[in-house]
Amino acid sequence: MALFVQKFGGTSVGDLERIQRVAERIEETIRAGHQVVVVLSAMSGETDRLMRLAHEVTSHPDDRELDVLLSSGERVTIALLAMALRGRGINARSFTGRQVGIVTNSSHTRARIAKVMASPVRQALAEGVVPVVAGFQGVNERSEVTTLGRGGSDLTAVALAASLKADRCMIFTDVAGVYTADPKVVPSARKIHKLSYEEMLELASLGANVLQSRSVEFAAKYGVPVEVKSSFQEGDGTLVTHEDADMERAVVSGVAGDRNQAKITIVGVPDRPGIAADLFSAVAGASISVDMIIQNVSQGSLADISFTVPRTDLPRALPMMEKAKTELGAQTIEVKDEIAKVSIVGVGMRSHSGVASRMFQALSREGINILMISTSEIKISCVLDERDLDSAINALHQEFALNEPVQD
Ligand code: ASP
Ligand code: MG
Repeated sequence: MALFVQKFGGTSVGDLERIQRVAERIEETIRAGHQVVVVLSAMSGETDRLMRLAHEVTSHPDDRELDVLLSSGERVTIALLAMALRGRGINARSFTGRQVGIVTNSSHTRARIAKVMASPVRQALAEGVVPVVAGFQGVNERSEVTTLGRGGSDLTAVALAASLKADRCMIFTDVAGVYTADPKVVPSARKIHKLSYEEMLELASLGANVLQSRSVEFAAKYGVPVEVKSSFQEGDGTLVTHEDADMERAVVSGVAGDRNQAKITIVGVPDRPGIAADLFSAVAGASISVDMIIQNVSQGSLADISFTVPRTDLPRALPMMEKAKTELGAQTIEVKDEIAKVSIVGVGMRSHSGVASRMFQALSREGINILMISTSEIKISCVLDERDLDSAINALHQEFALNEPVQD
């Protein structure tokens, strides 16, 4: 008998028919003799709908009230699924975040988990009851409702799995797993069987969009094995776990593209100590995350500093840069927003050399111009023109033979 935490995302519980399908799946697992703790998202589109309502009622909705509102979506699905399970003769009970004891800090709409009591869940399991837990929500120390940031049900599931020492945390979603590249861009992309936490983190933050990044950090910290799998098809998904020797065999595990990129260049900044500090502390203060930074070799006593930000943050970053330009006595600001980032990720890079040069050569054979480069131990990223992104992803997928299955 194993203990599984099974999380179903918004599309998996998007209507009553799908909720019945989920109930059927859970029933199969229970009948096979396992214990299941279920974690649910709101029905697909529901959190967005609630968010729109809040912004229609006032331009700046209060964060505390937003959390009360947003957390309602998950209450609906847990109650409906518990009813569906009971209708099948399975003893099930729904639990809100407060009821399971998910205690967070007070940062409304993006709260961090401080502790997970989980005793009501243990109690239910001991009684043979299937606990159905609302994802994405907790309470602060004053028992006020908080939410864990978009995609936060993944975090609820991983945190519960850690606290219960579950054998596996399964994330059921509308894709069959994590792929070597977006199958819409690369038709020969393959499902990855096993991935390290570190690789998944790089891929999650690169927009692979299957697991919330913070849930992967949490899983890594507590060593929770996480499997991403389809709620619509049978079969294994992608297992995210500790790095092992198998994983190193592939040089590169996946290629990711990110279109949400813009480049800002400040031309003619005086080249003296403290300039970069001033410039980037303003941006950081506004919670805009700067990714790549390049400072050109200065001509005389002037330098050009280029950096990338998420394109969606450009409207907030620009006024700040105009202000900095005046204060620092720089010449002009240039913006290029039709750029994208392509990245290759793999723990195998630690033990294989020459990966970067293979990447650059593959891009150059396609006539693709690289605008910026950054590297880490297990990732190399290049910024390029957005129109080159799809051919870059395809070229790299081919260069690193990602369509060929790794030998087990
Ligand atoms: N319902 C929340 C959201 O849409 C949490 C989740 O689905 O994970 O972000
Ligand atoms: Mg999600």
